[in-house]
Amino acid sequence: MKSLLTNETVEGGCACGAFRFRATGQPIRIGMCHCMTCRRVHGAPFGAYAIFPRDAVEMSGRVQTWQSSEAGRRHFCPVCGSVAYMEFVTHGEIDLPLGAFDDTGRFEPQYELWSKHREPWLPHVRPEYEEERTR
Ligand SMILES: [Zn+2]
Ligand SMILES: [Zn+2]
Repeated sequence: MKSLLTNETVEGGCACGAFRFRATGQPIRIGMCHCMTCRRVHGAPFGAYAIFPRDAVEMSGRVQTWQSSEAGRRHFCPVCGSVAYMEFVTHGEIDLPLGAFDDTGRFEPQYELWSKHREPWLPHVRPEYEEERTR
Protein backbone atom coordinates (compact mmCIF):
# COMPACT_ATOMS: atom_id res chain seq x y z
CA MET A 1 0.00 0.00 0.00
CA LYS A 2 1.07 3.56 -0.72
CA SER A 3 1.57 5.75 2.30
CA LEU A 4 -0.90 8.62 2.37
CA LEU A 5 -0.17 12.21 3.28
CA THR A 6 -2.77 13.54 5.70
CA ASN A 7 -4.29 15.89 3.11
CA GLU A 8 -4.20 13.44 0.23
CA THR A 9 -7.50 12.80 -1.54
CA VAL A 10 -8.97 9.57 -2.83
CA GLU A 11 -11.79 9.44 -5.34
CA GLY A 12 -14.37 6.99 -6.51
CA GLY A 13 -17.91 6.57 -7.69
CA CYS A 14 -20.67 4.34 -8.95
CA ALA A 15 -20.47 2.05 -12.00
CA CYS A 16 -22.16 4.52 -14.40
CA GLY A 17 -20.30 7.63 -13.14
CA ALA A 18 -23.41 9.65 -12.17
CA PHE A 19 -22.41 9.59 -8.48
CA ARG A 20 -18.85 10.55 -7.43
CA PHE A 21 -17.09 11.07 -4.12
CA ARG A 22 -13.79 12.49 -2.92
CA ALA A 23 -12.39 11.82 0.56
CA THR A 24 -9.57 13.80 2.15
CA GLY A 25 -7.08 12.39 4.65
CA GLN A 26 -6.95 8.99 6.29
CA PRO A 27 -9.99 6.83 7.01
CA ILE A 28 -10.94 6.43 10.68
CA ARG A 29 -10.99 2.65 10.15
CA ILE A 30 -11.45 0.08 7.39
CA GLY A 31 -13.71 -2.91 7.85
CA MET A 32 -15.51 -5.80 6.24
CA CYS A 33 -19.10 -6.65 7.11
CA HIS A 34 -20.82 -10.00 6.61
CA CYS A 35 -24.28 -8.89 7.83
CA MET A 36 -27.24 -9.94 5.69
CA THR A 37 -27.95 -6.35 4.63
CA CYS A 38 -24.39 -5.75 3.37
CA ARG A 39 -24.44 -9.10 1.59
CA ARG A 40 -27.69 -8.26 -0.16
CA VAL A 41 -27.07 -4.63 -1.12
CA HIS A 42 -23.69 -5.53 -2.63
CA GLY A 43 -24.96 -8.82 -4.09
CA ALA A 44 -21.63 -10.16 -2.78
CA PRO A 45 -20.47 -12.39 0.12
CA PHE A 46 -19.57 -9.30 2.20
CA GLY A 47 -19.38 -5.52 2.17
CA ALA A 48 -16.09 -3.69 2.73
CA TYR A 49 -15.84 -0.03 3.65
CA ALA A 50 -13.36 2.74 4.38
CA ILE A 51 -14.97 4.91 7.03
CA PHE A 52 -14.28 8.65 6.96
CA PRO A 53 -15.49 11.59 9.05
CA ARG A 54 -18.58 13.15 7.42
CA ASP A 55 -16.72 16.44 6.94
CA ALA A 56 -13.88 14.75 5.00
CA VAL A 57 -16.13 13.52 2.18
CA GLU A 58 -17.43 15.57 -0.77
CA MET A 59 -20.02 14.06 -3.08
CA SER A 60 -21.68 14.90 -6.38
CA GLY A 61 -24.65 13.36 -8.14
CA ARG A 62 -28.04 12.20 -6.99
CA VAL A 63 -28.59 9.21 -4.71
CA GLN A 64 -31.63 7.39 -3.44
CA THR A 65 -31.81 6.39 0.20
CA TRP A 66 -33.49 3.74 2.26
CA GLN A 67 -33.46 3.18 5.98
CA SER A 68 -31.77 -0.15 6.73
CA SER A 69 -31.99 0.10 10.53
CA GLU A 70 -33.03 2.67 13.11
CA ALA A 71 -29.92 4.81 12.50
CA GLY A 72 -28.64 3.17 9.30
CA ARG A 73 -29.11 4.82 5.91
CA ARG A 74 -28.10 3.09 2.66
CA HIS A 75 -27.57 5.27 -0.38
CA PHE A 76 -27.39 4.02 -3.94
CA CYS A 77 -27.16 5.43 -7.46
CA PRO A 78 -30.70 5.54 -8.94
CA VAL A 79 -29.27 5.16 -12.48
CA CYS A 80 -27.09 2.03 -12.14
CA GLY A 81 -28.04 0.72 -8.69
CA SER A 82 -24.48 0.74 -7.30
CA VAL A 83 -23.96 1.11 -3.57
CA ALA A 84 -22.95 4.78 -3.15
CA TYR A 85 -22.27 4.94 0.59
CA MET A 86 -23.78 4.12 3.93
CA GLU A 87 -24.02 5.99 7.18
CA PHE A 88 -25.33 5.77 10.70
CA VAL A 89 -27.00 9.13 11.28
CA THR A 90 -25.86 9.08 14.92
CA HIS A 91 -22.11 8.67 14.13
CA GLY A 92 -21.09 11.57 11.87
CA GLU A 93 -19.26 9.10 9.61
CA ILE A 94 -19.55 8.03 5.98
CA ASP A 95 -18.83 4.44 4.95
CA LEU A 96 -17.43 4.41 1.40
CA PRO A 97 -17.47 0.99 -0.34
CA LEU A 98 -13.93 -0.25 -1.06
CA GLY A 99 -14.94 -1.50 -4.50
CA ALA A 100 -16.04 2.01 -5.55
CA PHE A 101 -12.59 3.64 -5.29
CA ASP A 102 -10.87 4.44 -8.60
CA ASP A 103 -7.60 2.84 -7.46
CA THR A 104 -7.22 -0.67 -6.14
CA GLY A 105 -4.93 -1.53 -3.25
CA ARG A 106 -5.40 1.72 -1.32
CA PHE A 107 -7.11 0.34 1.78
CA GLU A 108 -6.89 -3.02 3.51
CA PRO A 109 -9.59 -4.03 6.02
CA GLN A 110 -8.51 -4.17 9.70
CA TYR A 111 -11.41 -6.26 11.07
CA GLU A 112 -14.55 -8.16 10.10
CA LEU A 113 -18.06 -7.75 11.51
CA TRP A 114 -21.01 -10.16 11.69
CA SER A 115 -18.84 -13.24 11.25
CA LYS A 116 -21.89 -15.36 12.18
CA HIS A 117 -22.95 -14.85 8.53
CA ARG A 118 -19.44 -15.31 7.12
CA GLU A 119 -18.87 -17.62 4.14
CA PRO A 120 -16.92 -20.64 5.47
CA TRP A 121 -14.47 -20.65 2.52
CA LEU A 122 -13.00 -17.24 3.40
CA PRO A 123 -9.54 -17.36 5.02
CA HIS A 124 -9.12 -16.04 8.59
CA VAL A 125 -6.56 -13.23 8.42
CA ARG A 126 -7.84 -10.40 10.68
CA PRO A 127 -9.85 -9.93 13.87
CA GLU A 128 -13.46 -11.09 13.54
CA TYR A 129 -16.47 -10.10 15.59
CA GLU A 130 -19.53 -12.33 15.88
CA GLU A 131 -21.79 -9.27 15.45
CA GLU A 132 -20.97 -5.59 15.90
CA ARG A 133 -17.51 -4.41 16.93
CA THR A 134 -16.80 -4.39 20.65
CA ARG A 135 -14.80 -1.30 21.52
ZN1 LIG B 1 -24.49 5.10 -11.22
ZN1 LIG C 1 -23.18 -4.91 7.31
